[in-house]
Amino acid sequence: MVIGSLNMDMVVRTGRIPEAGETLIGQEFALSPGGKGANQAVAAARLGAKVAMIGSVGRDSFGAELLEIMCQEGIDTRHIAKSAARATGVASIIVDGDGENRIIVVPGANTELQAKDMERLEEVIREAEMIVLQLETDLGMCEAAAAIAHRHGVPVILNPAPAQELSSGMLAAVTYLTPNETEAGILSGIAVDSMDSAEAAGQALLAKGVQHVIITLGSKGALIVDAAGSRHVPGFPVQAVDTVAAGDSFNGAMASKLAAGSSLEEAVRFGNAVGALAVGKRGAIPSLPRLAEVERFLEETEAAQ
Ligand code: ADP
Repeated sequence: MVIGSLNMDMVVRTGRIPEAGETLIGQEFALSPGGKGANQAVAAARLGAKVAMIGSVGRDSFGAELLEIMCQEGIDTRHIAKSAARATGVASIIVDGDGENRIIVVPGANTELQAKDMERLEEVIREAEMIVLQLETDLGMCEAAAAIAHRHGVPVILNPAPAQELSSGMLAAVTYLTPNETEAGILSGIAVDSMDSAEAAGQALLAKGVQHVIITLGSKGALIVDAAGSRHVPGFPVQAVDTVAAGDSFNGAMASKLAAGSSLEEAVRFGNAVGALAVGKRGAIPSLPRLAEVERFLEETEAAQ
């Protein structure tokens, strides 16, 4: 069960960024489904997990399109609300000639989901094998979802992105916390720029009550820190084309494996393979691989070793 955001990404490619008051002719425009919740839900569904999503879109064409795409991916959309009050969330993304992104997110309908909605959906959350959360929606709602899941013994993956301060109650309800290096730094107060500092940040987060910390390290893979110690799970060397949705693909993949009963190490290795495949292609959802592609990639990688 993924509880999170659904956005329409509007991507404009331009040679350079316009100055204030200037109008430029850009090179390319693309509309694509996104939002961390939607990305993670699709990532897990493409890898064979049975996925349902709790979210909120507007009663507009973007909302209808997002629901349609989620349905096509085989995701249960029964608990995605259609808000009459707010427009579907959008991300306006400008990519310049150097491939640098500038992003403005207008959350819109995503903010409509509140803690009281989680209480209403308590039975649905209780029935889930696993809950996957990010921080693009209302924080009180995320806290309520995590608390309900925790109360019923349902494991919670929290991808703390975009990073923000979290209460100790929230952290204590998290089974698997998956920050990247920047987010781990913000949450722990320890700047992460090496394996040693990543481990120190992981330990600090364990001390706050999280059960397992998995710090993603870009091309270097991920570091697991928990009561069993810390283990580095190396990444897969690939030519990165576009790192959009690397973290989302990793989280969806890790969730799908854990829900299927794999060990944390196996799930993280699988997440690294999926992350590597996602950075090899442009876009968010278009870059998310299917199970057969990941299995082929892992076989080829093993054969080459
Ligand atoms: P985020 O996208 O949230 O900043 P990371 O950059 O840490 O997160 O990427 C998430 C995961 O995606 C990494 O743990 C790794 O498995 C994979 N990944 C990211 N960048 C690369 C890369 N350049 N080469 C191979 N794998 C990558």
